[in-house]
Amino acid sequence: MTNEHATVLRLPDELRFIADVHLGRLARYLRMCGFDTLFEQYYDDREIIDLSVREDRIILTRDKDLLKSKKVRNGHLVHSDVPVEQIREILCACDAAGKIKPFTRCMECNGVMEPVGKEEIIDRLMPMTRDHYDEFKRCCTCGRIYWEGSHFIRMKSFIMTLKSGT
Ligand SMILES: [Zn+2]
Repeated sequence: MTNEHATVLRLPDELRFIADVHLGRLARYLRMCGFDTLFEQYYDDREIIDLSVREDRIILTRDKDLLKSKKVRNGHLVHSDVPVEQIREILCACDAAGKIKPFTRCMECNGVMEPVGKEEIIDRLMPMTRDHYDEFKRCCTCGRIYWEGSHFIRMKSFIMTLKSGT
C-alpha cells in the first residue's frame, strides 16, 4: 500500500526512549548506558504513543502495527529478539555509542543516580559490601543503592564493547 503511514526515526539532540512491554531487558540496558528510557509493564499502546509525543521520545517496539498509528511521530522497529543484539541495534540506528554515560541512571526505575556518602547509607549495606566498598551511588527516585561489585564489573566490560561497536 502506498498510502500507509510509515514512522521515521528522528534523532533529537537528547535521545529519550520509551520501550514497549516486551522490551524490558533492552530498557534496562539503555538505562545502564545512561539513556532516559521509560518502560512499564502496564503501558498500553495508547499510553506509549501519548508519552512519546508529549516527551519527544523514540518508541522502541517489535510491533509494526504500533508504528503504523498516524499519531506516532518517532519510532524504531526493533529487528532482533535478543536483548544484547537489540541494544547494539539501537545504538547503531541512533548513532549513540559516543553518547553512552554509564551508570548515571537507575536500571530499575530510570531515575537519575548521584554519588552518596558511605556514612549516609551504611546501615542499609550488607556486611560484605560495607567492608569492601567505599563509593556508592543512589537513585534520586527510588533510593536504590549501587556500588562497583562483581556484577558492575561485568556490566562495565559489556559497555566497553558497546562503545567500541564490537
Ligand atoms: Zn531508581
